[in-house]
Amino acid sequence: MKISELFLPTLREVPQDAEILSHKLMLKAGIIRKIASGIYSYLPLGLRSLKKIEQIIREEMNNTGAQEILFPAILPKEIWDETGRWELYGEEMFKLRDRKGREFCLGPTHEEAVVDLARGEIRSYKELPKTFYQIQTKYRDEIRPRFGVMRAREFIMKDAYSFDISEAALENTYSKIFNAYVRIFERCGLSTVPIEADSGAIGGKVSHEFVVKSTNAGESTFVSCPHCSYAGSIDAAKSKDENLSSSEEEKPLEEVATPNAKSVEEVAEFLHIDKASIAKSLLYKIDEEFVLALVRGDDELNEIKLKNLFSANHIRQAEEEAVKKLTGASTGSIGPVKTKLKVVVDKRVSTMKNFTTGANKDGFHFKNVNIERDFTGEKVADIRKVKEGDLCPKCGTPLTMYEGVEVGHTFKLGTKYSEEMDAKFLDSEGKEKYFVMGCYGIGVGRTLAAIIEEYNDKYGIKWPVSVAPFTVEIIPLNMSDSEIRNEAEKLYKLFKERNIETIIDDRDDISAGVKFNDADLTGIPFQVIVGRTFKQNGKIEIKKRETGEKFIVEEQDAIKFIENIIKEN
Ligand code: ATP
Ligand code: MG
Repeated sequence: MKISELFLPTLREVPQDAEILSHKLMLKAGIIRKIASGIYSYLPLGLRSLKKIEQIIREEMNNTGAQEILFPAILPKEIWDETGRWELYGEEMFKLRDRKGREFCLGPTHEEAVVDLARGEIRSYKELPKTFYQIQTKYRDEIRPRFGVMRAREFIMKDAYSFDISEAALENTYSKIFNAYVRIFERCGLSTVPIEADSGAIGGKVSHEFVVKSTNAGESTFVSCPHCSYAGSIDAAKSKDENLSSSEEEKPLEEVATPNAKSVEEVAEFLHIDKASIAKSLLYKIDEEFVLALVRGDDELNEIKLKNLFSANHIRQAEEEAVKKLTGASTGSIGPVKTKLKVVVDKRVSTMKNFTTGANKDGFHFKNVNIERDFTGEKVADIRKVKEGDLCPKCGTPLTMYEGVEVGHTFKLGTKYSEEMDAKFLDSEGKEKYFVMGCYGIGVGRTLAAIIEEYNDKYGIKWPVSVAPFTVEIIPLNMSDSEIRNEAEKLYKLFKERNIETIIDDRDDISAGVKFNDADLTGIPFQVIVGRTFKQNGKIEIKKRETGEKFIVEEQDAIKFIENIIKEN
């Protein structure tokens, strides 16, 4: 490809709405362009890299025995009604009607579609296992689209769905695909940590997120143990129960005035007590029920854990109006004593003695509150967010926290969807059984962004060879010098003959400086420079974009040199 003909609109200025580096670079280097919030077009360079990632995914998925298919993006409401997800998916689902008024959505994921296919077509255990995958556009009306294609509203996903005869067989399929994921991300130049995760709206039992650590582009928070293999997303992570129970004598309950003190900090300061001796009370609406949740004053409540505790679909903090109505007080003054509400107590709170809570009366708190004596907790459970320094649930080492980008997600679904959609096969004894399923996603665009987030410097992108839009860029420094021009064109032809993906900066009205800047910005792994050294002694300069190293080689050795480096990679 000749750069003079390539559609490569680079930008000098950093676009204002781009917060993270990869997003800025994708705009600057002519990789993507925005058409609406969270909706992007891929330009030629971007599309070439995207296709490379897709190809790596294809090869590795095919190796597991999975078969590629292609579902439609537009899906009828009826199949979503069978699983209840037409409602459950909520506002994130893009919905539309056809001219006859029939309802459809733009698929945010394809479990319903694949189960609908399988239940009509796969009849016998002899046809199992089967794994289908597709690389296709997904639609999710994200509340906060951001970071360019990292969290977009239209994005390309590789999604796969497996069908097995039993949990044991699923285990085998799951581990094959899990290993394929490790290889896929490795080949893309990303080191990922597989993390035990919450299954979110997809449901199911076990799930792993493949996370790339990233301080700046972190989309989610994760914890990991520096000593053993334990890792978890903040939504699901646990910590070791510490023995905190105290032998303190129970003191008499005491109501104290706390004028204007609402937050835990304010109450602690006013009463000269430690935050950890306060139990924070929060009123939640969990599906249709109101629940008072208690966590220690220095802890944060984990809404996902609380939601899962009730196997609920929706959770939100109660509005002030409901708080007033149900407790007689406003949010900063509510508590568990003498309440008719169902109370859920975090495990840590359950070990506390003589603690402080709101008195369900504005401007007042109770001191010396004790469980059993002053109120009963309906449930005691782990509903707090794990914090830096909490102890690993497996080995007891203090946990560390970091930000990361989830590029892939694998789930063991079991029979959740096949039961809901009545999808069965006949087993070897002729008995009807529900398919045991797994599902497996990779964000293709997000992976591309994560690669750029990882591979860059102040001059631009530094593509790993495996996903670079081109491998080599030939830079003739002066096109009006016929020797230079001829040599560059000769090399261009030779590289192409060797099937090395090559681009030539044949623009003749551009200074050498601009060519270098553009080459560094677009980040092709090898720059083959035909200029001063060529004029002096017929030699070629090769710059490795990744390290900035420069090598002077004989003209006839240029191809060998690059082929060798590629081989080494
Ligand atoms: P997240 O927690 O980031 O919202 P998710 O759990 O909703 O992700 P899945 O439903 O598991 O995501 O989708 C599979 C993969 O698709 C994710 O691992 C991620 O790489 C990608 N993905 C999900 N949502 C988006 C999005 N809005 N934009 C780009 N990629 C996405
Ligand atoms: Mg999501």
